[in-house]
Amino acid sequence: MVSSIPTPIAVPNESAGDTQAKHLFSLFLHHHLSAIEPSDEAGLTFAFPESWHAQCRQHEYLPTQTKQVFVGSRIGIGIEIDRSRNQRLTPQIIKTYSPRSATAHASTAKPPNEDKPTPMMTVSSHQSAPTQPTARQSACKALRELDHIPDGLLDLEAQELAGALGGPTLILLPGQREPALFISVLMHGNETVGWDAMRRLLLGYREQGRALPRAICLFIGNVEAAAAGMRHLPQQPDYNRIWPGSELAPTPEHAIMNSVVQRMQQRGLFASIDLHNNTGANPHYACVNVIDNRFLHLATLFSRTVVYFLRPRGVQSQAMAQLCPAVTLECGKVHNQHGIDHAVEFIDACLHLSHLPDQPVPAHDIDLFHTVAQVKIAPQIDFRFAPNQATLMLSPELERMNFRELPAGTALGRCTERTGLPFEVKDEGGRHIDSKYFILEDGEIRLRLPVMPAMLTCDETIVRQDCLCYLMERYDQHVPKRA
Ligand SMILES: [Zn+2]
Repeated sequence: MVSSIPTPIAVPNESAGDTQAKHLFSLFLHHHLSAIEPSDEAGLTFAFPESWHAQCRQHEYLPTQTKQVFVGSRIGIGIEIDRSRNQRLTPQIIKTYSPRSATAHASTAKPPNEDKPTPMMTVSSHQSAPTQPTARQSACKALRELDHIPDGLLDLEAQELAGALGGPTLILLPGQREPALFISVLMHGNETVGWDAMRRLLLGYREQGRALPRAICLFIGNVEAAAAGMRHLPQQPDYNRIWPGSELAPTPEHAIMNSVVQRMQQRGLFASIDLHNNTGANPHYACVNVIDNRFLHLATLFSRTVVYFLRPRGVQSQAMAQLCPAVTLECGKVHNQHGIDHAVEFIDACLHLSHLPDQPVPAHDIDLFHTVAQVKIAPQIDFRFAPNQATLMLSPELERMNFRELPAGTALGRCTERTGLPFEVKDEGGRHIDSKYFILEDGEIRLRLPVMPAMLTCDETIVRQDCLCYLMERYDQHVPKRA
C-alpha cells in the first residue's frame, strides 16, 4: 500500500500569506502525512487529527477550507486558514476518510540512508515531499546522527528545521580539543535562543575559516514543536522531562534521549549546556542539579544567579550530570537579542576553556538559590489572568515578582467561587505541601511564608503545560550539607 501513496506536494495558499500559517501548513504535511491514504483511484483522503485542531487554536488560525489539487500524477492539499478564533473549525474532508494504522511501520532503528537530511518542505514551492510517509514517521521516533552541518541548515529558522532534519538530530562536529562540549537546543520547541546562538556561532567560525577550539556535539531536539511555535505538540511529551531519571511513563521519545546519553557516555564529554528561554520577566540564570564546584564554575560563567534544583526529574542537565559538569541556561524571553548574544558569548567561552576548576567559587561571585517547591494550578480549576473572568483570577502583575524575595501575605490571585486552595504545591521530594506556602483568605491566595518565585509567567498555555512557578529560598539554609 505504501508504494501506491501519491507524493503530496505543497500548494501555495493565497488566503494565508502569513509565515506562521505557512509553518503550520508545512508542519501539517510533515507531521500528519501518515494519516493520508489513497482510498480509490481518484485520489487520497485525509482527516484533521485532534492535535492539528489544538495547534490551530493555539495560533488563532482555523483551516476553513481544504482543497485537493492535481498536478500531473501528484496530488496536493490546500487549506484555507481563517484568523478568527471564534469561527468554528469546519474541516472539509476530501473524498472519503480511511484511517491507517500509524504504528505499523514505526521503528526505532536507524535506517541505513537516514544520514542525509531531507530537503526542506515549503508551502510556496512545488517541491515534492522528500520521503514516504512511513519513513518520515519512523524518522521522528529515532535519533538521527550527522557528522557535519548540512548545507543551508544554518540559514534556517527554528520553525524550518523540521522540514530539513525530520526529527531529533545529533550533530558531531570536530574541533581542536577533545572531549566535546555537548549543547542541546530546542528541547522546548518555542524556545529558539539555543538554535539562534548556535547558528550564529557556527556561521562565525565558518566565515572566518577558523576551526572550532573544541569539538561540539549539538543535539537539536523538538523540531516538530518548533515548527508550530510550541513547547511541545499536544501528543508529545515535554522533551525536557524524558531524559534518564524521568518519572513520566516511557515513550519512544524517552528512548531517543536515552540513546543520546549512551552515545555521549561512550564518547566522553567536557561539559554540557542546555539552552532555554522563559516566558516571564526573569533575569538570565543558570541551573544545576548537583552541588559541585566544577558545575558552579560553569554556571557562574553565565550568571551570578544560580538555581539548584532536583525536581522536575528527567531534565537534560540532570542526566548529563552523570557524565560531566552540566548546566541549564535560562536566557530570558524568546527573540530577545541580548539573550542570544549572551548565549553565544558563553558557548564561545566554554569552547576556549581548558578545564573547569575544582576550587570553591568565591561567595561574592554567586547568588545560589534552591528550589523548594513547584506550584501548579489544580487541573480541575479554570483560571485566567485578571481582568478575564474565571474561577481563579491570577494577578497580571505576577511576572514582576520573579526573583524578588516576597513577604508573607503577598497575594497572587483570587478565587471567585468557593474552592479549596486551587494550587498543587510539591516539594523536591514530590510530596504535597500545598498549605505550607499558601493560604486562601477572604477569597485571596496569599503567601504564608516569605519566598522568592521564579518562572512566573502570564502565558496561560505555559502555566497549564508546565507550571505556574517555582518557589526558591537561599542556598545556605536549605541545600543539604555537602559530604
Ligand atoms: Zn525550556
